[in-house]
Amino acid sequence: MSSVITPKAPAPDVAGQITYAMRSMGVAPIPRNYELFYEAYIGSNPALTRDLAALGGTATQEELDALGAQYFTHNAGAVFDNAHTRIVAELDNVLRVLRQEQNSLESYNKLLGETVRRINSKNSSSADLLRNAIALLSEATGDTISHGEKTVEDVSQRSQEMDQVRKELDEYKRIANTDSLTRLSNRRAFDDRLAAVFNNSMNKPVTALVLADIDHFKAINDRYGHPVGDKILATVASVIRANVRRDIFVARTGGEEFALLIEGNTADEVMTMCERVRRTLEATPFKNSRTRINYGPITISLGVCMASEAAEPGELYSKTDIALYGAKNTGRNCTFLYEEGMQKDFAKSWLIYKTDAT
Ligand code: GH3
Ligand code: MG
Ligand code: MG
Repeated sequence: MSSVITPKAPAPDVAGQITYAMRSMGVAPIPRNYELFYEAYIGSNPALTRDLAALGGTATQEELDALGAQYFTHNAGAVFDNAHTRIVAELDNVLRVLRQEQNSLESYNKLLGETVRRINSKNSSSADLLRNAIALLSEATGDTISHGEKTVEDVSQRSQEMDQVRKELDEYKRIANTDSLTRLSNRRAFDDRLAAVFNNSMNKPVTALVLADIDHFKAINDRYGHPVGDKILATVASVIRANVRRDIFVARTGGEEFALLIEGNTADEVMTMCERVRRTLEATPFKNSRTRINYGPITISLGVCMASEAAEPGELYSKTDIALYGAKNTGRNCTFLYEEGMQKDFAKSWLIYKTDAT
């Protein structure tokens, strides 16, 4: 499969080649699959090309849709439209079932009323009358009970189907918010979380934003190639994730940049956490056991800013970026805390956190 979708300049019969590739892989010839293969074929997004190739020759429709959801944001509309249509149909079914149940209960109620009236209007000691009334009521009660049982069954089946739609939407949301290379949250999820910090003013004073950027990553790519770069990126992501508390939100916000949102700690505590992650990564071996090439040490620079320093998400991001810039400018492999008035030229007081930069 990788040879089929290797990026290349569009050949004269691109459409024919794409259709042929899809047919030979048993992929359904539907527009959204065509769009996926087209983009992968012309190589407009190398990550998409790579991910589609990684699915191999037996990609399921579910896997293809997951890629579509990840790379084409306009697919979100189709997914939600579909879920909306299904939920409306299920709700219609529930309403129909409940209406039938209501009719059945109304008839039963009417029958009860009529029977009471008849018993009251005639000689209530008439054995025949009572026997008839009991027979009628017992039959109607049996019918009403079984109708009620059918209603419960129908409604529970409908609710299971709605639950299924909810699960699919949850899964879609998870995929749409996850970075496929590192399995961390992606930029979209990060933007939402960052905005939420400012929606709840209670959180603001105790929330810190951290931006971490791999040092000299371009040189690593240039030296060892992009696929090795990708593996290193994934390892850096897992080292960061594994060395902070579970409740800390960690995202890959772009190329080789990560963001952490830390709630409930002072600036000093956040700096200590960042330094621990930085040192752990610095000490992590990046050795290929087969070729024995040592890609390490791999290091990151970190910028920290408390949310209380900013009035809105954009300001917090740019102030954290200023701190990161400070760390980069001071030799990398260190952590900088944003302080009031800090600009892109750095005063000496900011060097206090520069512990052992290379
Ligand atoms: P600095 O220490 O200043 O951050 O230097 P740098 O080389 O890391 O920074 P620069 O911004 O110049 O280069 C970032 C590089 O990250 C460029 C690009 O090759 C690489 N990169 C970005 N995204 C990916 C990715 O998804 N995979 C791989 N392998 N490399 C990536
Ligand atoms: Mg970098
Ligand atoms: Mg960068």
